[in-house]
Amino acid sequence: MWQTNAIALRAGDEAMLIDSPYFPDELEALPGLLAGAGFEPDALVATHADYDHLLGRLAFPELALGMGEPSVVRLHQEPGAAQRALRDKDAELYVERSAPLALGHVQTLPVPGSIELGPEELELHPADGHTSDGMAVMARWCGVLCVGDYLSNVEIPMVEAGLGDYRATLARLVPLVEAAETVVPGHGAPQSRDWALRILDEDVDYLDALDRGEERPALPKDRDTREQRKIHAENLQRLRRG
Ligand SMILES: [Zn+2]
Repeated sequence: MWQTNAIALRAGDEAMLIDSPYFPDELEALPGLLAGAGFEPDALVATHADYDHLLGRLAFPELALGMGEPSVVRLHQEPGAAQRALRDKDAELYVERSAPLALGHVQTLPVPGSIELGPEELELHPADGHTSDGMAVMARWCGVLCVGDYLSNVEIPMVEAGLGDYRATLARLVPLVEAAETVVPGHGAPQSRDWALRILDEDVDYLDALDRGEERPALPKDRDTREQRKIHAENLQRLRRG
């Protein structure tokens, strides 16, 4: 659903899963698929607290989920919100699950900051604006940048928190994208550095149009669909409500 990505990273004899797929059959297949490729996660991480990124525990119920401090704060401010949103989406799509989502003890990660993976280090960078929380994970040693719900080739910016915050996050991502080989968005295809920089430019242009209050802005060619127009209308509404 929504071309949602889960990313497995490995360094030394440790592995980690960032974000999650959505459907029960995907979650069920995931441990075997990863093990077959030599990845057996020791830890789960979510880039932000939207429910579609939190489902790793359904595949690996024995592992702890780590999240940036703003995400942990958000979970505490909106208790049960992720579970309710998941139940609603499941009901809409007629999806049945054998177990409800239990987040267990969520581990708080420092953002900005870093965590260890085997002999290597994962950098955690703040990425808010889509939501009030969010972090980008940079695995510099292997050139992979996981941005959460930014820089998607299938979705225009969804500005749920603040336009200024969103702009600041895009600016913060520029040097990270420039230092990466592959950029993996929360939704869509993994991108080369140049492709990601192109999307970043398109997103800055889109934010300008949104800021001007344009009702029918030119959307990036690959993202000019009815669904994306709907997201734009919601962005405008939120902006006008202030
Ligand atoms: Zn998402």
